[in-house]
Amino acid sequence: MVRKGEQSATAICAAFLDRIESFNPKLNALVEVFSTEARQAAEAVDQAKLRGETLGPLAGVPLVIKDVFNLRGQLSTCASRILEGYRSPYTATAVQKLQDAGAIIIGRSNMDEFAMGSSTEHSIYGPSRNPFNLERSPGGSSGGSAAAVSARFAPLALGSDTGGSVRQPAAFCGIPGFKPTYGRISRYGLIAFASSLDHVAPFARSVEDLALCTGLLAGEDEKDSTSLAEPVPDYLAGCSDSIEGLRIGIPKEYFAAGLDPEIEALTKAAIQELEDHGASTQAVTLPHTRFAIPSYYLLCTSEASSNLARYDGVRYGLRRGGDRSLDEMYAETRGEGFGSEVKLRILLGTFCLCSGYYDEYYLKASKIRTLMRRDFASAFKNCDVLVTPTTPTSAFKLGEKLQDPLSMYMNDVLTVSANLAGIPAISVPCGFTSDGMPAGLQILGPSLDEARVLQVAAAYQKATQHHLHAPDLETQS
Ligand code: GLN
Repeated sequence: MVRKGEQSATAICAAFLDRIESFNPKLNALVEVFSTEARQAAEAVDQAKLRGETLGPLAGVPLVIKDVFNLRGQLSTCASRILEGYRSPYTATAVQKLQDAGAIIIGRSNMDEFAMGSSTEHSIYGPSRNPFNLERSPGGSSGGSAAAVSARFAPLALGSDTGGSVRQPAAFCGIPGFKPTYGRISRYGLIAFASSLDHVAPFARSVEDLALCTGLLAGEDEKDSTSLAEPVPDYLAGCSDSIEGLRIGIPKEYFAAGLDPEIEALTKAAIQELEDHGASTQAVTLPHTRFAIPSYYLLCTSEASSNLARYDGVRYGLRRGGDRSLDEMYAETRGEGFGSEVKLRILLGTFCLCSGYYDEYYLKASKIRTLMRRDFASAFKNCDVLVTPTTPTSAFKLGEKLQDPLSMYMNDVLTVSANLAGIPAISVPCGFTSDGMPAGLQILGPSLDEARVLQVAAAYQKATQHHLHAPDLETQS
């Protein structure tokens, strides 16, 4: 509408800011609203339109970014005390690309500290809430971004997905969320948690919007040596292709004990829907799935212990102590700056990397990772995509898993494998449980075949329209 001149970017921005003002206090999805900057950026779009300039594909589209991205001149804290007061000296490539396409950054969203968590409760800003039920978690770690899109605070948001942190909150909040292939989107300016598993991943209101956004985000970046020099197809165009004749694999390990019966029934109904649209299904096996959680939690904590060593009180954010010795400054800064979940992971990761334990833990987990990659490669010999539930349950209550890290970790059992293998995976809304909570359908594809994953997701969405079901924030208190 902005590009056609049917609406001004300024009016759209004002409408979203109003909505944020009315409902963000209930959700705590955004930890900072960039009202002034957003209004100015929207004004600039309108001026460019008046001058007759060609507008970018996202001209005037409000965008929320997770507090893990660098945005020049603004605070980026990863919801951690240790980054208190840290202002980014530069902008992340992913953020820059969407800004260049005309997007208006409207707010910074809440998250689990350093993206470690599945509930957005481990945050210095306090927990975010699920728009469908304020007593429940929006999922995590990108729970603020997911809640913001679900609550219609913005049509697009950026998150990061290291073990499911975009797909799980997308499922919990009734919106689509997509993690492309490792290396598809530059990680430059995404604050690191576990570099070999970290992915930039968008949330949107529809699969088509995700496809458009992914196309803009994808591509090689000289500032990230792991980014891929592969051509980027027109994902949006592929979204209208029929799925007639497509081969869908159903991995039996994803329908195991611990899967909530209602989630299982919704997933099976979704698979039936795909069959009704001409896809064929077959059972497949991913035999190393049972090692996914243990190997993920050894690898991600090992990488985190190394990545987070940089927060030493010298270079970024918080500094405490140090009047007597350097060691004392490190200890006091890190002791005060990190929350308990982050400390737990640094300890576990440091332990895994100790010379005496390296072979037994880190190395063994790396070998299992290779076996899991091979599991997927052999499944994709006979299938175009795999379909599973995104999460074993719908959104749990706030506080329910906070004292029990293992039960929190088990919530990632269906999502971490895609990160270990680096393959594209999406979550799309697939209906609601009897208590009104959204469920997500996960679609996984072979490396670099984002187009196929989006095509199947779009076909499913078109047939069901679950994504149109918005939460009611007016009456909830
Ligand atoms: N919940 C997982 C964890 O706690 C995944 C986090 C993520 O994807 N950033 O590590």
